Amino acid sequence: MNIILLGPPGAGKGTQARILVDGRDMIQLSTGDMLRAARTSGTAMGKMVAAVMDRGDLVTDEIVIGLIEEQLDGDQKGGFIFDGFPRTLGQADALADLLERKGQKLDAVIAMEVNDDELVSRITARSTCSNCGEGYNDLSKPIPADGICTNCGQAAEFKRRADDNEESLKQRLMEYYKKTSPLIGYYHAKGQLKWVPGLGEIDEVADGIAAVLG
Ligand code: AMP
Repeated sequence: MNIILLGPPGAGKGTQARILVDGRDMIQLSTGDMLRAARTSGTAMGKMVAAVMDRGDLVTDEIVIGLIEEQLDGDQKGGFIFDGFPRTLGQADALADLLERKGQKLDAVIAMEVNDDELVSRITARSTCSNCGEGYNDLSKPIPADGICTNCGQAAEFKRRADDNEESLKQRLMEYYKKTSPLIGYYHAKGQLKWVPGLGEIDEVADGIAAVLG
């Protein structure tokens, strides 16, 4: 099963993708994670994308389509979760072509429904364990006082993303509404769009996604 998790920054796409990876042995393809890995690698591409990401702008279609294409030939396991991709209509068309060429199809596009106030408070409060990527939130799930991650049990650094500040977030939301939200109509027209309420507790949202996927 191949699915897209669609939603604005802070909707919980990464968190839900991790649950699907654990529960259904799927493969998470997060272009944000791939780009963050590229920027820390110090390559020319990494340097180029770092400034774009910090501003909250979108990286070019060509770069992210190339990153996704590289991943589609590997082991498919329980299927791919596209997390943060596609983000433009050009990327959506490219994904359809790529999947067709590889004899695969898209099974569902899960649109996560949230409101902007919730997004801002989630994003400015979030951090992740540097060992295992477990997510924390200053308000709903604070970093453990002993510095030991509750998921992996290791002493960890709890990192905040460079672009999780109010200024970049404003721009990321603007990019979402201008360039990514048209994908809702695009996938609706293709009969693939499924809405899931994204505002509840993590488990409730996961149950909503499970109900849609069957
Ligand atoms: P994310 O981790 O998905 O929130 O992505 C972080 C940043 O990476 C975004 O604000 C963009 O600058 C860049 N990015 C991630 N995925 C894409 C994509 N599909 N297209 C363009 N830029 C992307």
